[in-house]
Order: sequence, then structure tokens, then C-alpha cells
Amino acid sequence: MNIAILGGGIGALSTAITLKQAGFDVEVYERHSGPAEIGAGIVCWPNASFVLEQLGVLDDVVEVSGSLNFMNRFSSSGESIGSLDINELSRLMNYPSYSIIRKNLMAILTQRTLVLDIPIHYQHDVMSLSGFNDKASVQFSNGITIDPEIIIGADGRMNSLARKYVNQDNKPIYQGFINWVGVFESEIDIFSDISVADYWGTGERFGIVPVSTTKAYWAGGAVAEKIADIDPKMYKAELNTLFADWPSPISKIINDTPLSRINKIYIHDHDPIDTWHKNNVVLLGDSAHSPLPTSGQGACQALEDAWHFTHCLKENGEDLSKVFKQFTSLRKEKTSGITMVGRQLASSIFNRDEVFCKQRDLASKNTDYKMAAMNMAKGWASGLPIGA
Ligand SMILES: Cc1cc2nc3c(=O)[nH]c(=O)nc-3n(C[C@H](O)[C@H](O)[C@H](O)COP(=O)(O)OP(=O)(O)OC[C@H]3O[C@@H](n4cnc5c(N)ncnc54)[C@H](O)[C@@H]3O)c2cc1C
Repeated sequence: MNIAILGGGIGALSTAITLKQAGFDVEVYERHSGPAEIGAGIVCWPNASFVLEQLGVLDDVVEVSGSLNFMNRFSSSGESIGSLDINELSRLMNYPSYSIIRKNLMAILTQRTLVLDIPIHYQHDVMSLSGFNDKASVQFSNGITIDPEIIIGADGRMNSLARKYVNQDNKPIYQGFINWVGVFESEIDIFSDISVADYWGTGERFGIVPVSTTKAYWAGGAVAEKIADIDPKMYKAELNTLFADWPSPISKIINDTPLSRINKIYIHDHDPIDTWHKNNVVLLGDSAHSPLPTSGQGACQALEDAWHFTHCLKENGEDLSKVFKQFTSLRKEKTSGITMVGRQLASSIFNRDEVFCKQRDLASKNTDYKMAAMNMAKGWASGLPIGA
């Protein structure tokens, strides 16, 4: 059975690896000329660590990542408003949580595809999916057409042509806020503890995720009603206007991050959909479900998809309709829930009402974080053979 995966992101590469390890014939088609690097870093929560172990890359990930201890929340004036013990979460789920620079994760996955001899065809920009007799083929803008037995659409959230083929509508929904994301490096130790620092303001947020004592990725977020043109030259001025008075080391991090390592992203997601497949095409990762960054689970869920899809295919052999239905039914509820949690948190964090934000901070301070860790562990472990 020959399988084409459209897109070359985390979802595509991890799926290619699990499928190849299970003995399937798989090829990857990516529009860019090399591994995609959008975004600064990722937290691989325990559910992702489990899948990374299954892919045979967890040791490589551990070598270049930070092992996270706490997620500490602060108000924009630096007052502590709660702390989640990540070690407790990891203990409950039997796998650690790691922070990693996205470029490093992509390099590790790409290296694994090379070892497994999986072809990745760069500069293959999908133009359309079309076909007759209940079987789609893929047309690329370079004139090439392919006609595989299975097409896995892992072409992201912004303009997934696979989603268009399956669902007609593929337009993502702008959720009213921007993230500037960056990677900061210092010659001296800056982070005494490998713990997430998450600062909440009134319509703004700044999060710092160390991967070592000298390196972190970060995201500054702010409400923006409309999407406007971006101008990289303005990024630091924009960030300094919003965050200059926020607690140390935020200013230093902004100003010492090279402009080339900062991106500005207008944040979109999708409403959950019931059907993830049509004929020989199935959606996976962000093209199927694309939770907001506030969920912390986008890439983790793409990794979970890879593991589940391979199991469904192994179990149901060549009955594609059965495979796709089983995959969708296994994944839909969990990923829809995560999308909704991401939206809920975003609407609270990016709220501009001062009274609301004061109450929100107080509620965070009074949260039972032990219970929160138990609930997170239960939700994120669901469907996987791991703890909780
Ligand atoms: C600012 C930001 C921060 C985030 N932080 C986190 C985090 O901390 N933790 C986490 O788990 N998740 C995070 N996410 C979410 C995470 O990045 C995604 O959920 C994850 O990358 C999904 O992987 P994917 O492979 O499905 O899609 P993508 O990573 O988007 O990959 C899609 C690939 O398809 C390719 N493609 C698109 N169109 C075509 C085409 N026409 N032809 C060929 N190729 C095409 C793209 O070039 C890309 O390589 C964040 C997202 C954003 C925007």
C-alpha cells in the first residue's frame, strides 16, 4: 500500500516514521525547500514524550531539551498567582515533559526519516486534490501529479488543501490576538531553574520557556482586533511598548533576541469538524484539529495522531473506510476538547476588562494545582497506554 503525506511538519514526519516502522511504504511532500521551522519552541508534554519514545527519538530529544519542573504564573507586576508542579504531572503520566526548540525537534525527526530511508520531496507545493471514481490524486504546482492509495493531509491549519477536499471549507478562524515568538540565547546563565514563567496582564501575556540555563523560547501575546501588515523592523518597538514595564528578565529577553529569531503570528484555529476523511484522503494534525497555542497541545496532538493512525491502519488492513472511521472516532473527542480548552484560556488571558483580570488572577492564585495536575494528566493520557 503506498501512502503519500502532504506537508512536512511535525505531524507529517512523525506519521511517516511510525508508518515506516510498521512496514508501510510512505513518502512525504513538502512545499518548502527544507524542514519547516515556524514557531519558536514546543513543550513536549508526557503524552508527546510517549510518542517520541515510540518513534525512537526520545533520547535525541532529551539531549537538546530542558526537563521542566514547574509552570509558574505571575501577574504583569510580578506577583505569584499559582504554580503547577510539572514533575507531579509527569509522575502521574509516567513520562517527563521537555521543552525543545522547534528547529531541533524538526532536525531530529528529519534525521530519523533519513535513517529509515523515507523519501521527503521538498519544493512540492500541493495545488489541488481531485479525482474520479472515489479516489483522489494530488497535483503539485511543479507539474507533478501523484496517485497514491492513501493521501494523508498534514498540510497545517492556514490553507489546508486536504481539508478543502474533505470538508470544502478550510478557512481558519482568527481568534483576535497576536503572538510574537522568539528564541533567546545568552552567554551567561540566566535561568536558575528550568521552569515555565507565564505572566498575565490585561489583554497581554508573556511566556518564557527555558530549554537550558542560557536558552529559552518565548511568546509575547496581545489582543489585536484586526489583522494588519507585518513589518519585522517594528517587532521590538511593538514588544517594548507592550512589555517594557513588565518584570525582569522580559525586557532583556526581548532586546537581546536577534530580530531574525522573532516571528509575529496572527493566531487562528478551526472549529472542530465531524468528518476527517473522504475517499482515500484523511486529515491529520493541524489540518484536522488546530488548537490555539494557549492549549499547549497542538504539536503533542499531531504526534498522538501519528501513533493512533498507524495502529488503525495495522488493525484494519486495506479497508480504508474502516481505518479512517476508527481513527476519527478515536481522536475527535479528545482533540475537540483541547480546542475548546485553548479557546477558553485565550478568552480569559486576552480579556481587556481590568475587573475580570483581577478576578481571574485571584482565581488562579486560589486554584488547587494538585487537582489541576490530576485533571490535566487524566485528559492528556486518555487514549494512550500511559499513566493517569
Ligand atoms: C505561535 C505558536 C506557538 C505554538 N506553540 C506550541 C507549543 O508550545 N506546543 C505545542 O504542542 N504546539 C504548539 N503550537 C502548535 C503546533 O505548532 C502545531 O499544532 C503543530 O505544528 C501541528 O503540526 P502539523 O504538522 O499538523 O502542521 P504544521 O507544523 O503547520 O506543518 C504543516 C506543513 O505543511 C506544509 N504545507 C502547507 N501547505 C502545503 C502545500 N500546499 N503543499 C505542501 N506542503 C504544504 C507547511 O509548509 C508545513 O511544513 C504552536 C503554534 C503556534 C502558531
